[in-house]
Amino acid sequence: MKSYNRISEIQADLQSGHISCLDLVRSYLENIRLNSHLNAFLEVWEEEALRRAAQTDENIRAGKMQKLSGVVIALKDVLAYKNHKVSASSKILEGFESLYSATAVQRLEDAGAIFIGRTNCDEFAMGASNENSAFGPVLNAADETRVPGGSSGGSAVAVQAGMCHVALGTDTGGSIRQPASFTGVYGLKPTYGAVSRWGLLAYASSFDQIGSFCRSVEDIEWIYNCIAGPDDQDSTVSVNHKTLPFEKGSGKYHFAVMEEAIHHPGLNEDVRSMIKTAIANLEKAGHRVSYFRFPLLEYMVPAYYVITTAEASSNLSRYSGLLYGKRSTAAVDLESTFVASRTEGFGTEVKRRIMLGTFVLSSDYYDAYYKKALQVRALIRQKTLEILDGCDAILIPTTSSPAFKIGEKAKDPIAMYLADLFTVQANLAGVPAISVPFGKSSENLPMGLQLITGLFEEQKLFALSETLMSVAE
Ligand code: GLN
Repeated sequence: MKSYNRISEIQADLQSGHISCLDLVRSYLENIRLNSHLNAFLEVWEEEALRRAAQTDENIRAGKMQKLSGVVIALKDVLAYKNHKVSASSKILEGFESLYSATAVQRLEDAGAIFIGRTNCDEFAMGASNENSAFGPVLNAADETRVPGGSSGGSAVAVQAGMCHVALGTDTGGSIRQPASFTGVYGLKPTYGAVSRWGLLAYASSFDQIGSFCRSVEDIEWIYNCIAGPDDQDSTVSVNHKTLPFEKGSGKYHFAVMEEAIHHPGLNEDVRSMIKTAIANLEKAGHRVSYFRFPLLEYMVPAYYVITTAEASSNLSRYSGLLYGKRSTAAVDLESTFVASRTEGFGTEVKRRIMLGTFVLSSDYYDAYYKKALQVRALIRQKTLEILDGCDAILIPTTSSPAFKIGEKAKDPIAMYLADLFTVQANLAGVPAISVPFGKSSENLPMGLQLITGLFEEQKLFALSETLMSVAE
């Protein structure tokens, strides 16, 4: 089976009878089998996918092609899909089945998509390497000794290795863009409030957004248009701010580059030369590149971890062994139900974050940490929006290095948290951001460049991503 980069190509071949949907699904299932050692999937819905594929073939023969007919999608294991298991890659949700579908999932299903399985991720989406899953790490198909990034590592690898065409992920501080850059695919984090979070197992509610991994910008846009928009179930989805239209105009754009990012001492040399190439090529093609200072860079990761752990400690309180969460067999009374179930059910990183979050919210430390972090967040948001007012997009690397080795940062939480250096800004500010694959490192590993635009400027983001792609060598 040929490998497709665009939904439009798949649908053209389905329409002409060149391929059948059934064959398409069979080829993804075959790739899943061949790559099972990568550990990208926690569960494969083989029979259902085949059944729906046969139905899709029938519909197409009857002239009923839907927007997502023939599009085979994997779901990160934090998205609810009715009557299917969802576990957030945690032991605490063992055996749990969803009673309803997430809005984003429902919209894809209604548009004709086929779901092929749920993908491995860091437990409760907390991590940057996929090593925090209760079901083992995911391997990067570009180099199996390396991590695929996280937390949506399984989704990234599923698209990277052709085990599905599209995968949904979630991005709280980089969990779509960072694995996209480590695996050489496209990854979008939409504007906060563009996509409903209904049916997403919450990590940090004021940051979480659902987005996709794809093999082209065209598909990223296609999927975004299907899942974005108001939803009665989530009041944080904006009803007033629709995605803003974007006029391509002269086709010459203004990219603003963060000085602190390109001169950062921790920046890998291959990544540095990648962004320099991009800048030179953009200028050669007649675009404008300017530079800005952002001294707040060093406060971003600390502010992010104070606020997200605070929100997580509150969100995860529901997994108590009572309402949600597997109850420990050691539970004999209320106290031991909570303590034993949470002790057995949660992994080390999740426990660390719950404790950290509870600490920063405690009355003695609230002002010193939580309140201060909120103030820093407000400043970061304001400064980011100011910069975006003066240019078309911010251009920075997605990550400071290509994919690192499995185990390399696992014992050092601070080093792991710093992997989020360039991605958390978009979440702190709520603006949309995309990672675009841009060249390979000297070790032949994928690298990604990140574009950030203003609130609800997704259309502009897509247009500028195409521009960036056009100057890739
Ligand atoms: N690596 C970040 C964290 O661990 C981002 C996670 C995410 O976006 N879900 O919190």
